[in-house]
Amino acid sequence: MSEPLPLPVSAPWIVLKFGGTSVSTTARWKTIRDLAAARRAEGARVLVVVSALSGMTDTLKGVCAELDVTQRLAVWARIESRHAALAAALGLAPEAAWRTQLQSLHALLTQAASAQGALPWQAAVMAHGELLSSALGADFLGAHWLDARGVLHAHAQPNQSERVQRLSATLETAPDAAVAAALAQRGEVLITQGFIARDAAGATVLLGRGGSDTSAAHFGALLRAARVEIWTDVAGMFSANPRQVADARLLRQLDYEEAQEIATTGAKVLHPRCLAPLRAPRVPLWIKDTERPALDGTVIGAEAVSASPSVKALSMRKGITLVAMESIGMWQQVGFLADVFAQFKRHGLSVDLIGSAETNVTVSLDSTENLLDSDALAALAADLARVCRVKVIAPCAAITLVGRGMRSMLHRLEGLLAELGSQRVHLISQSSNNLNLTFVVDEAVADALLPRLHALLLHSGALRADDVALFGPSWQALYAPAPAAQPAPWWRGARARLLDAAARATPRYIYHLPTVRARARALRALGAVDRWHYALKANPHPALLSALDAEGFGLECVAPGELDAARAAAPRAPRLFTPNFAPRADYAAALDAGELVTLDALHPLQQWGALFAAREIGLRVDLGSGVGHHEKVRTGGSASKFGLPLTDLAEFLALARRIGARVVLLHAHLGSGVLDATHWPGVYAQLASLGERIGTLRALNIGGGLGLPQRAGEQPLDLAALDAGLGEIKRAYPQFELWMEPGRFLVAEAGVLLARVTQLKSKDARAYLGVDAGMHTLLRPALYGARHGIVNLTRLGAPADALYQIVGPICESGDVLGNDRRMPVAQEGDVVLIEHAGAYGAAMASNYNLRGLPVEEVFE
Ligand code: ADP
Ligand code: ASP
Ligand code: MG
Repeated sequence: MSEPLPLPVSAPWIVLKFGGTSVSTTARWKTIRDLAAARRAEGARVLVVVSALSGMTDTLKGVCAELDVTQRLAVWARIESRHAALAAALGLAPEAAWRTQLQSLHALLTQAASAQGALPWQAAVMAHGELLSSALGADFLGAHWLDARGVLHAHAQPNQSERVQRLSATLETAPDAAVAAALAQRGEVLITQGFIARDAAGATVLLGRGGSDTSAAHFGALLRAARVEIWTDVAGMFSANPRQVADARLLRQLDYEEAQEIATTGAKVLHPRCLAPLRAPRVPLWIKDTERPALDGTVIGAEAVSASPSVKALSMRKGITLVAMESIGMWQQVGFLADVFAQFKRHGLSVDLIGSAETNVTVSLDSTENLLDSDALAALAADLARVCRVKVIAPCAAITLVGRGMRSMLHRLEGLLAELGSQRVHLISQSSNNLNLTFVVDEAVADALLPRLHALLLHSGALRADDVALFGPSWQALYAPAPAAQPAPWWRGARARLLDAAARATPRYIYHLPTVRARARALRALGAVDRWHYALKANPHPALLSALDAEGFGLECVAPGELDAARAAAPRAPRLFTPNFAPRADYAAALDAGELVTLDALHPLQQWGALFAAREIGLRVDLGSGVGHHEKVRTGGSASKFGLPLTDLAEFLALARRIGARVVLLHAHLGSGVLDATHWPGVYAQLASLGERIGTLRALNIGGGLGLPQRAGEQPLDLAALDAGLGEIKRAYPQFELWMEPGRFLVAEAGVLLARVTQLKSKDARAYLGVDAGMHTLLRPALYGARHGIVNLTRLGAPADALYQIVGPICESGDVLGNDRRMPVAQEGDVVLIEHAGAYGAAMASNYNLRGLPVEEVFE
């Protein structure tokens, strides 16, 4: 390949920043070389900004605190050998320039005791991580080595402590053509250090932990670069820290303000100070993964795609300290807050969140901004105590929802608020720029809470993961070992037949029996489960009942009508009867017919004891917590009406003994839509240990709730892992049979709902697509906020150029089947297909507005 022609002085700059993991191996350095060459080939000058090798800044920080010189030099020797090993792997000559940096570090570490430990000395020591890595890189890339301190100048801010000025300094940069021209003289590919700058006196200062991003941004602004690319160990900014929430979604595009808010509220992937310099000169910033450069990343810029409001991210900051200040009638006293805040200023502490009441003001201090030490805090508390009563609450974590237009999304946060309601929330704050909503909780609960809250945001649609213009795949979909490819849904191969059926009448449910059978067989293959019952409330269509009977399934019924349907369609299938708050007559009739009845309250035994004399019965218990994607599908825990509380178990068993009823079945069912295979072994273990206390028990029924992936990026339930988990418990409790009772899992995907487009309408920025199915046909979206895939079957495969709200014909504002769906532009008469409608679709349909019930049809 021939050498590219020299670049003109006016050639644009591209700044590439590589973080610690990106500069620690030979393979990554080769990627850096390729990327720099590719940008150069685009016709740009390249400035590479590097961090220290991963962990190096921590090592140097440790050395600063080490008093013993021998110990320090032992660490120095390890630093030497780590860089020497990388240099050798990169094929560099032994006496390369990085050795000079190593010598200067050695000199610092052995310097006169007077300098040691002082802040300027600490800054100089810690700067060596970046000095070393950039020197190695310059050699390997054949690039010009630039000392960042010659270009980036720190400005001391009023009220900044010396510590902040030295270790977390502030830069002010504006585009400067003269600097750009001077750097252009140095070469076409330059390499420099992140994290370091110089102050007015020429001393080395640091930009705060993670500050290399900020260096890159300041260089980007100074050079008015075409873009700044941040290369790291994840493909971009995600909707939550992907190391904590594997289901977090890639954020494809963000504007500066939203990205800033996500960075400030805790997403470590970008240093919070690195966006400010890029905003005014409108330099775009990309985030990309050095290990997998081909993956799409995040693009941050001035323009964002137009879309409905959505929560974009859930961030978390730990190390938050709350200072609660109490004083009677504080608002009446002019200047009270001024007095209070003067104390914070005096101690160099910046305040972040504020909550106020008549007699209390609570504020938060963020440890990252404040470099908090307990001395500063104690001194503050002592001073404040003169004007008010002070309480320090720590350690806390601030959990923040970020998204433009947060206030218009409050109605979608119901589930999230319910979850937070069970925690101690110390402070809630809604930002005045309408970009964030923050909850401060005890730090100890935050890690466990985060994935749950993220799941609730996804399920409520507050985080609109299906808007592919905003959100990319989940982290686990990108990084986890590729799951077995999901087969295409059955209806894709049946389009012509479905369109014919729709031509006869809509709204119309179609059930595909081969899919039901395939699901049934997949479950029957689980060796650990002895008996399966289909929870027929999901869909009592007789064709489904007899198909499942033929596959060896029993039937689980919750009302007399369901028992009738079961007897009619599958007379020989074993039946369970598990009603809830049913009248006495239901139990009497079922017992007379010889059904196995399960109770979940004391009332039936207390009031109608004679009915149960000499009978075998089941007992459904509440294990104290529920699971599921929505409050209304959780069937355990004190907020749910199901199950006997464990505190009543002894009394129930005593009553049963007195009456002469034998408890042969112990049952629990905690909720629906569960994709975590470890859930059921957990329930099984709890029931089994309870079961040992009941001498008459034969079987444990661990319920259903087996979930199906509802959104792109969700992994299907791992049935093999489920079987293995159940098998383990079974080996410990071989005396009990194991039963399960799925509903939705067996029939949901087998069913689709066909509807016809009635009318189209635009209102403000929203486009409505009206169809002849509605909440009377499919209630789940309105009742649970359930999400169903919706496609235009008539225009299958056409470009998705429209963003629709899909609504029905019922006179209710809640008559919405899907929000913000990107679909082809539709016309009246098009056939729309709604997926996963085989469960709780027709079964819940009503004649509301007297619109009639949908048609049902079975495909063999
Ligand atoms: P570098 O060393 O390249 O600067 P960092 O460790 O500073 O990398 O930042 C990348 C890390 O940021 C990721 O590995 C991830 O653990 C963390 N992180 C926290 N929040 C987020 C988020 N919302 N999106 C992406 N990464 C995040
Ligand atoms: N090396 C510095 C740190 O670890 C800066 C950075 O990597 O961004 O904090
Ligand atoms: Mg970083």
